[in-house]
Parts: sequence; C-alpha cells; structure tokens
Amino acid sequence: MKLYIISSGKYGSRIVNSLAEMGLASSMVGLEEIPEDLPEFIDDFEQYVPKSIPQADLILAVGLFGDINMIVPIIARESGAQSVIIPIHDPAQIPPGLQREIEESAPEIKIVFPKPFCSLEPVGDTYIDEFAEQFGRPQLEIESDGLIKKVKVIRTAPCGSTHFIAENIEGLPAEEAELESGTKLHNYPCNASMSTDPAVGDTILHLAGYQVKEAVRRALGFSMKSAVVDHETCEADECQHECIKHCPQVQIGIDTVTLNENEQAVIDPASCGCCEICIQECPYGSIELEEKKFELE
Ligand code: SF4
Ligand code: SF4
Repeated sequence: MKLYIISSGKYGSRIVNSLAEMGLASSMVGLEEIPEDLPEFIDDFEQYVPKSIPQADLILAVGLFGDINMIVPIIARESGAQSVIIPIHDPAQIPPGLQREIEESAPEIKIVFPKPFCSLEPVGDTYIDEFAEQFGRPQLEIESDGLIKKVKVIRTAPCGSTHFIAENIEGLPAEEAELESGTKLHNYPCNASMSTDPAVGDTILHLAGYQVKEAVRRALGFSMKSAVVDHETCEADECQHECIKHCPQVQIGIDTVTLNENEQAVIDPASCGCCEICIQECPYGSIELEEKKFELE
C-alpha cells in the first residue's frame, strides 16, 4: 500500500512518527507538512496544494484545522487515491458542515472521519481496511489467571498508546485493568481534545478512553461498570429514545444503546463509557450506573 500523509502541527507529527515507528515507514510515499498558523476560513485553498504529488493508494490527513482540509480530496484525486482517512481529534478541527462539504467535493472517493482516530474500524474499502487491520480501534488478547499475565496488541491506536497501556497493565489484578487502562491513556498522554464536542456531547479524549477500556473488557470477557436500563420503567414507545440520541458512543457509530425485541433500550456493557449522559437524558429516570461484574458474550 502506498500511503501519502498530509500533516499539520504537533498532533500530526506525533501520529506520523508513531506510525513510522510501528512499521509503516516503508509504505509512506510522501509527507506534506501544512503550516499550523493558517486562517480557519480560506477562500483560495488550492494555493496550498503541493506542486508534486506522488501516486498513492491511501491519503491520511492528520491535524489540519478548518478549510485547509478542502485540499485533501484534491490531493487524493491528483495522487490517484480513492481512499482517505481524516481523523478528528478536536471539535474545532472539522465542523459537521465542513465535513459534508469535503465529502460532496469528491463523491467518488471514500473518505472517513474517525472521531477519535482510535475509533477507526474497517469500512469495506480495500486500503482503509488494510490500514485499519493494524491501526484504529484498539483490540487486545489478554492471558489472565486473576492477575494479568500477558497482553498482546492485535490492533493499536495510531498514536501507539495501546502498546504503552498493554505493557502497563501486565501484573495488575484483572478487575482493576479496565479502570487502569483509562488512567494510562491519560499518562501516555492522549493528545485528543479535552473540550466538549457539541456534535457528540462529550470530549474526544473521553471517547478515546472508552475505546481502550472496551478492548480490555472484551479481552477479559467482563466489564466492571456500566449504565443499565430498568425495563420495568423504560417507556421507549413514549419517549424520543433520548438515551440512544444522546449517547456519545452512538454518535460516533458504535451500537452501545439499541432497542431489544420488545422495543426497549438495552446498553452494551462492553462499550458503555459510563459518561452518565443517558441517565440525565432519560425522561423516565430508567437508567442507572451499576458497579458489578458484567459477563460479556
Ligand atoms: S431508557 Fe429512557 S430514554 Fe431510553 S428508551 Fe427507555 S425511556 Fe426512552
Ligand atoms: S453511560 Fe449512557 S450515554 Fe454514556 S456511554 Fe454509557 S450508554 Fe452511552
């Protein structure tokens, strides 16, 4: 796979360096650095399109803020690439209107906007999926006998945090691992924004934490904490499904809250981030946070 990267700022450099260190250096056919101090609104963004663009299969644009992102589909077209990944780590980076504009400017190109980058999963596109096999939503295998013996990283967050977390939870009691993985992500540190993203109702940093906690929970086969719906009081045919509409995980495409065969809400304890937003939003007070061992299927 020929990977061409457009990068800007500290976040961009960090991702480029960690991908190179984790084995992608030989796939990189080019790297274009975009200055950080560009205005958010640009009339003539074409002046920023690089003069010489190599042939590529996949374009990755990391850390660009505002209208300058409009050069990404232009570069993709000139490189021959049909696949583009534009990860979002900050709510100010690509507002939903700009995202639509980018997509509409290149309907023939598959463009994904994982928010955060460590929520990327295969989407049925050859090159995005080849990338997402190794980098994106963390996936682990854990050997444990009550204590964590060995952690194998199957898929790592593109910043490399999953390897750091894997090393640091070895030796811990298994029941402490999910909480500790969130703490270790902060220590790494995760560079996603701590500002609330109005489009999801939570911070992108929190969303990154939910992804790695889910990886730990799934690898262990249990979760220690989750929001739970009381089906005695859930009136899903009367409400506006506020729990589904406001769940930040659902907003980024994860099936954390769904309706069961009785049309009542069900929360997946593997991916619930325990943000409590659904608890505040449910008009019937039907959701509570429970701390107990939830066995996962
Ligand atoms: S849990 Fe609350 S918000 Fe969700 S479907 Fe049931 S009543 Fe509606
Ligand atoms: S607590 Fe509720 S809103 Fe938050 S992640 Fe879990 S299900 Fe979604």
